[in-house]
Amino acid sequence: MILPKRLTVGAFALILVTVIVFTLAVPVEAQKGATPTPGLVKGGPTGTPAPVQAPFTPQPSPEGNGGNATWTVQSMTFQSNYPNGFDFTIDVTSSGGKIANAMVLWRYSPKTRTRRPAEVDASGTRATFSFRPVASDAVPQWVGIQYWWVLQDEAGNTYETEHQYTEYSDTVRPWQRLESEDIIVFVEQGVPPEMGQSILDAMAEMRPSFQSHWPQPLPYKPRAIIYNGFTSWAEWSPGAGTAAGATRTVTIGQTSDAWGATVQAYAPLYVDVQETAYSIVPHEIAHLYQYANGGATGDFWFFEGNATFFEVVGRDFMLDRVRELARSGTLPSLQGGGPSARGESARDAYDIGFAFFVWLDETYGPEAHRNLWTLIDQGKTTKQAMEEVTGMSFVDMETAFRTWLGATNAVAPTPFPTPTLFFPPTPTFAPTPTPRS
Ligand SMILES: [Zn+2]
Repeated sequence: MILPKRLTVGAFALILVTVIVFTLAVPVEAQKGATPTPGLVKGGPTGTPAPVQAPFTPQPSPEGNGGNATWTVQSMTFQSNYPNGFDFTIDVTSSGGKIANAMVLWRYSPKTRTRRPAEVDASGTRATFSFRPVASDAVPQWVGIQYWWVLQDEAGNTYETEHQYTEYSDTVRPWQRLESEDIIVFVEQGVPPEMGQSILDAMAEMRPSFQSHWPQPLPYKPRAIIYNGFTSWAEWSPGAGTAAGATRTVTIGQTSDAWGATVQAYAPLYVDVQETAYSIVPHEIAHLYQYANGGATGDFWFFEGNATFFEVVGRDFMLDRVRELARSGTLPSLQGGGPSARGESARDAYDIGFAFFVWLDETYGPEAHRNLWTLIDQGKTTKQAMEEVTGMSFVDMETAFRTWLGATNAVAPTPFPTPTLFFPPTPTFAPTPTPRS
């Protein structure tokens, strides 16, 4: 999630946010540290075969695969019918007889795996499955897809095919596709043409920072899908671009580790190329790194400030703002949940959190960030991890941070206790909503 550094206040007080979604998925075998390997897919934006890097490393077929039979795969095909899903087809024979059961499995990232029984035709040599997404399992166009089949013949032999790569291509409209060693970017026609290269440049600029600060690399190459406005986003995600809630909030992006991707709307009313490319995308990719390194849990300021630490532009602006709060004696404490993430103070959580990670970096070096996330990945809370890495109690650590900022009141004023912890439960009690995500 990200808030603009310059809030646009209009008649509807629109606030722009992007949302990160951590899909609860069936846990599957971890592929941490896996190195992407080259692959080949058909159906790029031009409709011609395009070499792409596989989204993540495949597993080889299991040992002793196929039982006593000899299996011959004539073809495995994938057809995108975006926005209406995709079709899988396999033509295969077994010396053990006709295919009796066929299951197709696919994943968009190592976080998820979907399996569906397929139809086997009368010949017993062809199986097909058509995926027709509904709201709960819809995915953006251009997600990467790894798929494979598990088959059983009449004699009971089981065979798992090799894994194939493809993309959920959108042939409804023209797209620009760009790829670097950091990211794969898809830009819808109508977005300013410099968007794609700007994102590649931003990610390249932050590459040393991503590499030096994260203990685990992403186990896939992330994707950024940039829409021209909201129409083609709403095509698969109904309601995208609609102002919602009491604050008339418009969500301009969404990030999911299940997709291994972030989608962002280019909407000049809200956000420009510079902000999308140099702030939002690196920020959202940092959220993906968080999830690959133990998860984005803890106080809002912690994981939003941490993602903001990977933004390219606005760093001096944010740091100056926080230093000014410190000098004027109005810097909110990190205790008690930390700075506000709501209303007019909504930037506080981002900017102060950002400043915290600058302090951590300048004081202890990038290894402190790596150690911090290693501890989080091992199950420590963010507070425990911060105390262990700095060798200080949380309060002493905060005093050191505030002193570094030049606070006139380096020892943070004790925040009011969180009322939810002390109220007796009553029928009318409504807990204070805690921002998460
Ligand atoms: Zn965020």
